[in-house]
Amino acid sequence: MIPVFSPAIGEEEIQAVIACLRRGEISGSFGQSIHEFERKFADYLGCKHAVAVNSGTAALHLAVDALEIRAGDEVLMSSSTNIATALAAYHHGAISVPVDSENDTWNLNLDLIESLITPKTRAIIPVHILGHPVDMDKLMVIADKHNLAVIEDCAESHGASVRGRMTGTYGKLNCFSFYANKVITTGEGGMVTTNDDTLAEKIKLLRNLAFIEPRFKHERAGYNFRMPALQAAMGVAQMGKIETIIADKRKLAARYNEALGNIKDLQLATEQSWARNVYWMYGVVVNEDFPLSRDRLCHYLKESGIETRTFFCPMNQQPLLRRQPGFREVHCPVADRLWERGFYLPSGTDLTNDQIKFIASKIREASMRAS
Ligand SMILES: *Cc1c(COP(=O)(O)O)cnc(C)c1O
Repeated sequence: MIPVFSPAIGEEEIQAVIACLRRGEISGSFGQSIHEFERKFADYLGCKHAVAVNSGTAALHLAVDALEIRAGDEVLMSSSTNIATALAAYHHGAISVPVDSENDTWNLNLDLIESLITPKTRAIIPVHILGHPVDMDKLMVIADKHNLAVIEDCAESHGASVRGRMTGTYGKLNCFSFYANKVITTGEGGMVTTNDDTLAEKIKLLRNLAFIEPRFKHERAGYNFRMPALQAAMGVAQMGKIETIIADKRKLAARYNEALGNIKDLQLATEQSWARNVYWMYGVVVNEDFPLSRDRLCHYLKESGIETRTFFCPMNQQPLLRRQPGFREVHCPVADRLWERGFYLPSGTDLTNDQIKFIASKIREASMRAS
């Protein structure tokens, strides 16, 4: 089976973790590798602070908590996203308000935001889906006009940029994931980035049980969301190859574009002129006139030894959120369609040219057999 993803782990990561063990740096409370990873990550993005945590979900949770978003508040977010985005609001009693997607980048449609704002709206969480950035320059104008906090969900967009500026440097607090299949990985892990000194301190406080002086007296409900030093050591090694990984992913996308280009009624991943897409995963959408459904096509590919994965179930369709008192029914026909017709192809950086050609030939074969 050609897997949808395989992490780029080499001797550097193995040696870094071993060295960390030899130094006795095993916890998330001490260890030079945590600071080193945070510093390297912040410098890479060009932002002031990066605070390492133990997952992307924890990063989002802390961002919402630190901005004091609470029960009854509304948070606008990309409808097409991982449930973790909405859970960050949910666990604080806040309402997720889904914003429908646009057709070409599959990111949230900025033209819809203003019509969804109410007096309860506190924040916007744009998700840079599959590695294509949201037009953050435009989004910040809308957010500033309405005095809304922005939390970027960058779980899929490490290194993606907007007119040369990195995702994860626009919002008040921004969240990355280093889960096993993300652009760079620490197995499990996350990062909160910010240019705000006070918020950076607050995130560090909340990450570590909100310890204050005198020790063991607590004013706030914190969490243990610390990233273990072993993970951070792996992260440092991954930072050394992030640009190589992104270059490989961009090459992969170019090869897919070429191999799939002449297949009718198959919409391919794009890159806007102002954007740098890191193609976390290479997505495609099966148009209505394609001779077989997305599910039948994916089944055909599976039988041929090719693993695929569907796009996310949009937040407007989540049973969990729809049961929440105060949830607003927002129609998201584009996100619904992406859920029904979108999927991503194997996107590991070790994928060979021949494998890409094989995958394209199988999609073409499925289409021809069905028509
Ligand atoms: C992966 C992902 C997350 C969650 O990150 P974890 O590290 O798995 O907790 C959140 N948002 C998006 C868009 C993701 O893709």
